[in-house]
Amino acid sequence: MDTILFLAQTEEDGTLGKPALEALGAAVELNQALSGTLVAALYGAKVQPAADAIANCGASRFLAVAGEDFASARYATDAAACEALLRAAQATLVITAATSRSSRVMAGVTHRVGGCVDTHVSAIAADSGSVTLTRWFYRQRIEASLTRTQRPWVLLLDPGAHAAWQGQGASGPITPELITVPVTESMKRTAVRGTITPPADQQTIRPDAKLLFVAGAGWTKKQKDGQTHVPEAEALIVDFLHKSKASLGSSKSLVELTGENQSALRFMSHLNQVGQTGATPRHPKGLSTCCHGEEPHTVGWRFIGERRAINLDPNCGWARGKADVLYVADAFEVMSKVNALLGS
Ligand SMILES: Cc1cc2nc3c(=O)[nH]c(=O)nc-3n(C[C@H](O)[C@H](O)[C@H](O)COP(=O)(O)OP(=O)(O)OC[C@H]3O[C@@H](n4cnc5c(N)ncnc54)[C@H](O)[C@@H]3O)c2cc1C
Repeated sequence: MDTILFLAQTEEDGTLGKPALEALGAAVELNQALSGTLVAALYGAKVQPAADAIANCGASRFLAVAGEDFASARYATDAAACEALLRAAQATLVITAATSRSSRVMAGVTHRVGGCVDTHVSAIAADSGSVTLTRWFYRQRIEASLTRTQRPWVLLLDPGAHAAWQGQGASGPITPELITVPVTESMKRTAVRGTITPPADQQTIRPDAKLLFVAGAGWTKKQKDGQTHVPEAEALIVDFLHKSKASLGSSKSLVELTGENQSALRFMSHLNQVGQTGATPRHPKGLSTCCHGEEPHTVGWRFIGERRAINLDPNCGWARGKADVLYVADAFEVMSKVNALLGS
């Protein structure tokens, strides 16, 4: 019988983030399909709030590594905590969220326990007792289903790929089994001095937004009057993002113009880039503006549900099967009308 380990780091306040709850949702489902044993393991400065919140998930054991030494992301202590939890659980299958923190350590941890690891997992299924995972290769162009016999098998589930676990917390507190992990001075050489994040209203990447708004290089090009209109473009886009709370994506051309210090949109960075060499966001809807819709860009739209584009060119890439709806129109005019409608 399989032992399925749900493994997660806790947030600063001791709770679990959405990606962790999604991984728990997948672990609970897999456990039911395999009629296995579910074990939940947590690590971080505080673990009790998370343990209480997931007490009814069906886990037969709750394990934890807790303390200030495990508060922030650091390879040596995170890897030691995860290794200790994996060994204590004796799991055959391990499911954890593919956060930047866990992605950094899980390959090393898996090697230490003699297992095998798969990253960027988008689905996990169990048909007649055999576990199959699904993941994408070659920048989301090829989808593969694979299975392995080696155990423990560690699966890093991509955020946004599974519904979050939504069970109720326990009526009373539960006590996780605390695992002691010795931390030497040499394991603490790396220290997180602080985090720098933009103010909330300047945060343009919003993974949970219903809409992805993509801006392309056309916003900075000469328009029908023979002039560029970058300040107007900036104002229109910022106004739209403010009103719609959409997430902002970009084409490679536009972020590179910004990097070269040409007249471009000041709030754009490489982090906004969508595509083959950029991000592959997941949003129910997407609206592309002033972007040509070439294959290396649109490959990043793989997981966008409904795709629309605004382009002056009726022969642009969006017209060739890349979008559900193409508005052959001037994006400056369309977006100022949209903003006016949103404002009214
Ligand atoms: C190996 C490789 C990897 C790549 N990876 C990526 C990637 O990850 N992401 C990415 O984005 N690109 C990537 N590219 C580049 C990609 O091929 C395109 O060059 C790039 O996406 C083009 O950006 P764009 O559409 O914004 O600009 P352009 O091609 O310059 O298109 C601008 C568009 O704006 C339109 N336009 C202008 N004014 C208006 C207006 N007023 N109203 C409406 N429309 C208007 C024009 O008609 C035009 O279609 C990659 C290329 C290679 C070779």
